[in-house]
Amino acid sequence: MDEYGLYLHIPFCQHRCAYCDFNTYAGLEHLITEYVEALCREVKYLSAYTQDQIFVRTIFFGGGTPSLLPEQQVEKILANIHDRFVVSAAAEITLEANPGTVNLAYLRNLSSLGINRLSFGMQSAHFAELQMLERTHGNVDVVNGVQWARMAGIENINLDLMFGLPDQSVETWEKSLRMACKLEPSHFSLYALTLEHGTPMQAWVARGLMSKPDSDVAAEMYELGSEFMQTHGYQQYEISNWAKWEEGKGLLSCQHNLQYWRNLAYLGLGAGAHGYANNMRVANVLAPAQYISKMSLSNERRNPADVPQDFPKTPATSNINPVNKETEMGETMMMGLRLVQEGVSQETFFNRFGVALVDVYGPEIKILLQQGLLEWQGDILRLTAHGRLLGNQVFLKFI
Ligand code: SF4
Repeated sequence: MDEYGLYLHIPFCQHRCAYCDFNTYAGLEHLITEYVEALCREVKYLSAYTQDQIFVRTIFFGGGTPSLLPEQQVEKILANIHDRFVVSAAAEITLEANPGTVNLAYLRNLSSLGINRLSFGMQSAHFAELQMLERTHGNVDVVNGVQWARMAGIENINLDLMFGLPDQSVETWEKSLRMACKLEPSHFSLYALTLEHGTPMQAWVARGLMSKPDSDVAAEMYELGSEFMQTHGYQQYEISNWAKWEEGKGLLSCQHNLQYWRNLAYLGLGAGAHGYANNMRVANVLAPAQYISKMSLSNERRNPADVPQDFPKTPATSNINPVNKETEMGETMMMGLRLVQEGVSQETFFNRFGVALVDVYGPEIKILLQQGLLEWQGDILRLTAHGRLLGNQVFLKFI
């Protein structure tokens, strides 16, 4: 029985940040009501389109800025999911929030609807860095957001921080880390800035209006961040992610993202969302208006004979990539090696594919072991500390 992660994409932002290349749009908030209606239709469509029940172990509202959704819309989406899918009683239900878009009453309502994890895009504790990124919040909004989340009963909190910014110094990075750690969230994601094609920030750097991020400094910041996390009680479990260990609960890692890293099934609903199930990777149309229009044509009633081949395709699907066994093995390696402790177990690999890991990737593994990028820990193959800095070089060997 597959247990799914459910990703819901909310493609609305108040303002587009200078570095962002996500599928999100400013000034389209007037579409929210119709968009939520379309999401609910996609939930219904997926549940009607499989002969099996859909078991859900995680739900993730990502964006964009999901905290722009009024409580009533979050309630409507969750009610549809609970009506159509079998949601585990212990499901992790995360909502990404921009600091400055939430207040105590809103978070109390989310908590009562079952949201039990919040992810705040803090990015930096420095006003000048936040301005450069064109973020619309200040540090006080992060402090308030975390405090209100706790008052609302949501203890599982992630903070995103960014490093490798133009003109960011190691000192300002350390100060951001220190101020973020003072808030004692259960989880941290530390991301290096990448200059994405077509973003304002990439154009400013290309025109010499902003200095180019220095990859050596970014590597130094990553190492500093790793050490800082460790000395403040956070365990690294993925290249960019750290979590606290809590008695009785274990490591407070992001269960939804673990579904991706373990290369397990998930359904992606909403504009531009990706899904992986039934040996297919699927992606939806990008534009919210097009998504709404595609889903408005959906009809739940269909020929049951069609069912097994097409799931998880919906009327909003624009891309389908079949995944054969060879691709699945390569993706399992690429994503599993991101998990710096768990790595890829020989036993799990054999149980999944019926073939030994070393029989498939013996030569690649041998080279990476010699280069000091991979190591064996008993049955587990994983990145070395050096390999964590050169992850992309390692992953390329498996595709
Ligand atoms: S808030 Fe997040 S999703 Fe929205 S524009 Fe900024 S970086 Fe992109």
